[in-house]
Amino acid sequence: MSRRSDFRPAHIGVDRRMPARPVRIFESPNRAMTDAFVDAIDALLPQTQCRRCGYDGCRPYAEAIAAGETDINRCPPGGTATIDNLAALTGVGAKPLDPACGDASVARVAFIREAECIGCTRCIQACPTDAIVGAAKQMHTVIAADCTGCELCVPACPVDCIDMPASTPETGQPLWPPERPIDAERAGRARALFEARQQRLNRRTTRRRRANRHEDTHDAHEDAAATSGAKKSTIADAIARARAKREKREE
Ligand code: SF4
Ligand code: SF4
Ligand code: SF4
Repeated sequence: MSRRSDFRPAHIGVDRRMPARPVRIFESPNRAMTDAFVDAIDALLPQTQCRRCGYDGCRPYAEAIAAGETDINRCPPGGTATIDNLAALTGVGAKPLDPACGDASVARVAFIREAECIGCTRCIQACPTDAIVGAAKQMHTVIAADCTGCELCVPACPVDCIDMPASTPETGQPLWPPERPIDAERAGRARALFEARQQRLNRRTTRRRRANRHEDTHDAHEDAAATSGAKKSTIADAIARARAKREKREE
C-alpha cells in the first residue's frame, strides 16, 4: 500500500489560472506510480459518472486531476467532503465547489412514468450503469439500486417521461449526499457497473469493426472478380473482332 506522501505531485503550487500545459505528475515519471495515484483519486470520487465535472466519468476526471490539468473542486455529487479528501491526498489547497459544475444537491433516483414510455431505448443508451431495463417498443423501468442519480437519461428521453423525484423512503434513497462520506459500497458497485458496460461497448465496437473489415474484404474480392471478368470479356471481344477482320481479309 502506498503512503500518501508517495502520491504527492510535483506540480503543487502551480498557478491554475494559467492556461493548461500538460504537467508531469512526478519528478521521475513512473507509470505504475501514476496509475496508483489515479486509482487513489478515483477511490475518493462518488462514481455517479454524471459528467458534471466536465469529463466523461469519474476515472477521466481522476486522470485529469493526477495530470494537474484540472482542479479538485469540480464534483458536485461529492460536495465538500470529496474536495477535502482530494485536497488531503493531492496536497492542493481545498476550495469551494466550482459553481460552474452545478450545486451539491443530493442525488436522486430516476423514475420513468411507464405509461408514457414509447420504448425508444434512448435512456438505456445514455445510462452509464445499465440501471434501466426494457426492450425496444416496450415499457422501460429503472433499477433503483443501480441508479446513481446522474440524470443523463433525462435529456435523452424524447417524450420527457423521466423524473428525478425527491428522495423519500417511497421513491428511493438519496445517493452519495454531499457533505457526508461517500458510500463506498454503492460507489464500488457503480464503478463495477460502469466498467462492465464500457467493456461490453468496447467488445461491440470491436465486433463491428471486424464485421466491417470482413465486409470490405468481401466487397474487394467481388470488385476484383468483377473487374477481372470485365477485362476477360473485353479481351475476348477484341480477339473476336480481330479474327472476324482476318477472316474477312482472307475471303
Ligand atoms: S461523480 Fe460526476 S462530477 Fe463527480 S467525478 Fe464523477 S463524473 Fe465527475
Ligand atoms: S437511470 Fe438515469 S439517473 Fe439513474 S443512473 Fe441511469 S442515466 Fe443516471
Ligand atoms: S427514453 Fe423515454 S421513451 Fe425512450 S425508452 Fe426511455 S423512458 Fe421510454
